Amino acid sequence: MKILVQKFGGTSVTTPEKRELIYRRVKEAMEEGFKVVVVVSAMGRKGDPYATDTLKSLALQEYSDLSLRDLDLIMSCGEVISAVVVAAALSARGIPSRALTGSQAGFLTDGHYSEAEVVDCQPGRVIELLQHNEVPVVAGFQGADPLGEINTLGRGGSDTTAVILGAALEADKVEIYTDVSGIMTADPLILKEARVIQQITYGEVFQLAHEGAKVIHPRAVEVAMRNNVCVVVRNPEDPGTGTLITAESSLRGGGYSTRGRRAVTGIAHYTNLVQFLVKLEQPAPSKELEMFQRIGEAGVNIDLISVFPLMKAFIVKDEHCFKVENILKELEIPYTMEKDCAKVSVVGVGMHNIPGVMARVVRALNEQEIEIKQTGDSNISISLLIKQQDLHKAIKTLHDHFYLSNCDLS
Ligand code: ADP
Ligand code: MG
Repeated sequence: MKILVQKFGGTSVTTPEKRELIYRRVKEAMEEGFKVVVVVSAMGRKGDPYATDTLKSLALQEYSDLSLRDLDLIMSCGEVISAVVVAAALSARGIPSRALTGSQAGFLTDGHYSEAEVVDCQPGRVIELLQHNEVPVVAGFQGADPLGEINTLGRGGSDTTAVILGAALEADKVEIYTDVSGIMTADPLILKEARVIQQITYGEVFQLAHEGAKVIHPRAVEVAMRNNVCVVVRNPEDPGTGTLITAESSLRGGGYSTRGRRAVTGIAHYTNLVQFLVKLEQPAPSKELEMFQRIGEAGVNIDLISVFPLMKAFIVKDEHCFKVENILKELEIPYTMEKDCAKVSVVGVGMHNIPGVMARVVRALNEQEIEIKQTGDSNISISLLIKQQDLHKAIKTLHDHFYLSNCDLS
């Protein structure tokens, strides 16, 4: 069986016109000989009637002490509503379809409410429907644990649902349909010059997603990479364009030969960060250890961590700032903090072959008088902490500097 998984994000399921586009994409794929499985997210964005955030606030506004279990139960309804509506839309247009919850589609989760991992996927019912020439429309973002309790998979979870189904069904391809025409050189909401990247490696997308490009969830990319699932990102309104995510060895032109020349493929960013600087009079290793342990126990993720004998620096999301402050005060550790910071990351698999990328980044930002407060790197990325007010200028400067508006992205 030639199987194609098509995932439609929140903005692609909202109106009858959008659902008409889903019908067209499904029909085209069927005409090409594919058996199609559809995965859907909840309809719309915050404020829309059945969006995940709306369902969540509906429950929490009046009953702020709602259990995580019940919160997951209500949040999982957004995708179920979408699945029913999309299956009805397809059936009404002559494509027999059946809505399935995540659990009915075979998603077994680990019991962690709100951030569950999928431990197994047994898509027997999905296969049965395909064999009967029906299109399964699966509610993304959810599964059930061994006790039958509903768990959600965290933000961006429907991407993960689609890729796991793709792997479990040994699908030819997974198509992620969203409101942009592919993975772009930067967030088009911030930079209008951003362009669609035609081909990109799993590693680069993972790093872009991990550094804040929310177009695809990093966990979905990880699953795709581990299982060699071919993923394409595109817009249902513009199906001719899109980004193909592949292994480095499958890049057109044979891996490194063309790619080696491109140091940077894309730019990602995070906003609303706070930098903490801890300055000690003398080394205090046990206190330092306790500080990091307690921050971890408080469930706070820290990033851009630099540790010197008398100085430590790290950043946290601003919603976690007060927790960290409380810990530092309790431990009587002197600190300063800087709010309203942003992190910009340049990502490119070619970077590790090209010396001097860091120097180019620093020079480009210096020329624009953008202060770099801290840096971090991986083998395919360089991250820079800057003032949030400099974010647009920094992204534009780096985008121009690395010729992302006009270099060959194929
Ligand atoms: P969906 O609901 O379809 O999952 P998301 O809102 O999660 O859609 O992701 C799409 C959004 O990701 C785009 O509207 C865009 O603003 C944002 N985005 C951030 N970085 C990028 C990037 N590098 N390429 C494309 N989109 C990006
Ligand atoms: Mg998304």
